[in-house]
Amino acid sequence: MKNIYDMSLVDLENYFLEKNDKKFRATQIFDWLYIKKVNSFNDMTNLKKEVIASLEEDFTINNLEITKTENDKDVSKFLFKLSDNEKVEAVLMNHDYGNSLCISTQVGCNMGCKFCESGRLKKIRNLTTGEMVEQILLVENLKKIRISHVVVMGIGEPFDNYDNLVKFIEIINHPKALALGSRHITVSTCGIIPKIEEFSKLPYQVNLAISLHAATDEKRLTIMPINKVYPLKDLIKVLKKYIQLTNRRVTFEYILLSGINDTKEDAINLANLVRNMNCYINLIPYNETSNISYKRSSKESIDKFYDILKKERINVTIRREFGSKISAACGQLRSKKED
Ligand code: SAH
Repeated sequence: MKNIYDMSLVDLENYFLEKNDKKFRATQIFDWLYIKKVNSFNDMTNLKKEVIASLEEDFTINNLEITKTENDKDVSKFLFKLSDNEKVEAVLMNHDYGNSLCISTQVGCNMGCKFCESGRLKKIRNLTTGEMVEQILLVENLKKIRISHVVVMGIGEPFDNYDNLVKFIEIINHPKALALGSRHITVSTCGIIPKIEEFSKLPYQVNLAISLHAATDEKRLTIMPINKVYPLKDLIKVLKKYIQLTNRRVTFEYILLSGINDTKEDAINLANLVRNMNCYINLIPYNETSNISYKRSSKESIDKFYDILKKERINVTIRREFGSKISAACGQLRSKKED
C-alpha cells in the first residue's frame, strides 16, 4: 500500500482517472489532507462510500506517531515513530516571523561527520516523501499552529534521498496543499556536488545551505569524510555555477568547534574561500553532546571570529541559539532515548 502523502496532485488525478472516476476528486482529497487536515479517509465526508472504500484499500494515511515531545520557551522537539518502528525527529522553532520546522529525511545518516550525533547511526533507510510531509502535519495538528517555514536540516542527508526530497518540496509548495512558499523552504547539504547541480535546475526558488565547517581541505577532511569525494575547490565551483544560474544567495553553515576550526587563521581562510560570492555565513555555536568530545568555542572566540569576517566584509551572522537545553541538535533526542 502507498502512503497517501506520497501522492502529488497529478498522481492522484491519474489514480482517479484510472479508476474511471473524475479528475477533480484529487483536489477534493488535497483539500481534506492539507486544508482541513483530517487524518482518516472516513472523515472525508463529501466523498461517496465507494470512493472512501477504494482509498482505504489502496492507501495508508496515519503512518507516523509522535511518541515524545520536549518543550522549551521558543522551541519544541518531537520524536516520531514510523510504521516500521524506526524513529526520527523534528524541531519546531517559534520565530517572530513565523513557525519554522526542521525535519528529518533519513533514518540514520551515512555522511559520518565527526561532530554530529545523527551520523553515529548509519543510514537504515530513506524516508518516503509522505513521511517527510507527515512530520509537518502532525506537528501542526498537535500544536494547533501553521508551519510557515521548513528547514531540511534534521537527521539525514537530504541530497542522499534526492527524488523523495524533490517530491516533498513539490507537495508542500503546491498552492492546493500546504502552499509553503519556496523562499520559506531551506535545504541543507554537506555538499553532494552532482545533486547541487540538479537542484540548481529545479523550477523552485528554494534556499540552499551548505554545511562547510572548515575552509581548507586538510581541515575539512578531519571532520567531514564527504570532503574526500567532493573537495572544496569543486564544491565552490559548483556553488558559483548555482548562484549564476539561480541568482540566489547561498548560506554557508559553520559550526565553531573549540581548537579545531575557530582560530584567526581559520577565519581568514574562510573569508578568502567565499570572497566575492553571493553568500552569507551562519556561525553556529556547537551544541555539545555527551557522546562526542568536541567542545563549543568560547563566547570570545566566536565574537572574534565574527569580527574578523565582518572586517573582511563578509556577510555573517551568529545563529540564535535554540534548544541547547532540550537536546535539540540533530539526532540528540533519538540517541538520548536509546542510551
Ligand atoms: N546532512 C545535512 C543536513 C543535516 S545537519 C547537512 O549536512 O547539512 C544540519 C546542520 O546541523 C549541519 O550544518 C550540521 O553540521 C549541524 N550540526 C550537526 N550536529 C550539530 C551540533 N551538535 N551542534 C550544532 N550543529 C550541528
